[in-house]
Amino acid sequence: MALFEKMENLETPQNENKDMGEVEKVKVLIIGSGPAGYTAAIYASRANLSPVMYEGLQPGGQLTTTTEVENFPGYPKGTTGPEMMEELKAQAVRFGTDVRFGMATSADLSQRPFKVTVDGNKVIETETLIIATGATAKYLGLPDETKYAGSGVSACATCDGFFYRGKDVAVVGGGDTALEEAMYLAGLCKKVYLIVRRDVFRASKVMQERAINTPNIEILWKHQTKGLFGDGVVEGATLVKNMGTPEEEEVKIAIDGFFLGIGHKPNSDIFADYIDTNDVGYIQTVPGTSKTNVPGVFACGDVQDDQYRQAVTAAGSGCMAAIDAERFLAEQE
Ligand code: NDP
Repeated sequence: MALFEKMENLETPQNENKDMGEVEKVKVLIIGSGPAGYTAAIYASRANLSPVMYEGLQPGGQLTTTTEVENFPGYPKGTTGPEMMEELKAQAVRFGTDVRFGMATSADLSQRPFKVTVDGNKVIETETLIIATGATAKYLGLPDETKYAGSGVSACATCDGFFYRGKDVAVVGGGDTALEEAMYLAGLCKKVYLIVRRDVFRASKVMQERAINTPNIEILWKHQTKGLFGDGVVEGATLVKNMGTPEEEEVKIAIDGFFLGIGHKPNSDIFADYIDTNDVGYIQTVPGTSKTNVPGVFACGDVQDDQYRQAVTAAGSGCMAAIDAERFLAEQE
């Protein structure tokens, strides 16, 4: 919780006096404030496009839910997610990005300028729109997931797995995400429990075979998670085997890390009437670009990436979106 408080305390000076209800016209509007949004903001502001950014409900995005970040190039001693986001924000503000606290609640992308409504009552008209709204990892909804957030609960094995080297962990889920996480963790950890609620995987055959043939992965079929326990940090999980049947029984496992692998939801709902997505909502971009099906609307970061989902790939695609927006505006002149 302290991490979120820290992000909320960051200054957002430019928007304090904007009248609600008025229509404001901008050249570049960026929605979302993860590595993709901030990188787009840095590039767009250095190109003198005076971008306006709305940070969304979770300023700094998913990285603010992680602690150490050791795999972002240029940080040899590592950094924390919130610190990195603070620095990215400062860099964007330094070049003139107008960073505002607020949430895009609807969008009319039927014609330019596009109209985006923020917090249900302020309308922004923009020549170009950069969607960097990210994706949200799905959680089971247990109170213990919040209680141990950053203290043994994670939804990103690539981000946090390193901290569990030589330890025992569990991954929940039976799809490709869970199996990929389990395989990654199996290379680092002593033992990986895979908690699968049914007696079959949803994942692709090749991933299933890999997981089954990995000696330090133990698959707990027909198990569901009831809760976590531990003194300040996760020390174990309480599971229910064969839930709802006469053979139902409670099982406890000792683990140091509990990883969610039950999927992500891309935050694309408010654009869905206009922007092409795949069947689970990831925005489709023209390969090798950030262009969507609507000229002048660009997407970057996890909202359009179901493959890599890394801070550094998000930042790279944010750069692409700003350059694509700049070129689009130049072509209109
Ligand atoms: P999926 O929807 O495919 O799988 C989700 C898994 O989580 C299922 O096993 C599901 O169980 C389980 N689950 C969902 N909710 C709960 C819950 N409340 N409690 C316990 N278990 C739960 O999501 P993925 O993120 O795995 O994959 C999404 C898409 O992305 C897929 O098309 C996948 O192929 C793709 N992908 C591809 C990758 C690659 O090619 N490298 C890597 C990762 C994803 P159940 O089966 O019972 O519903």
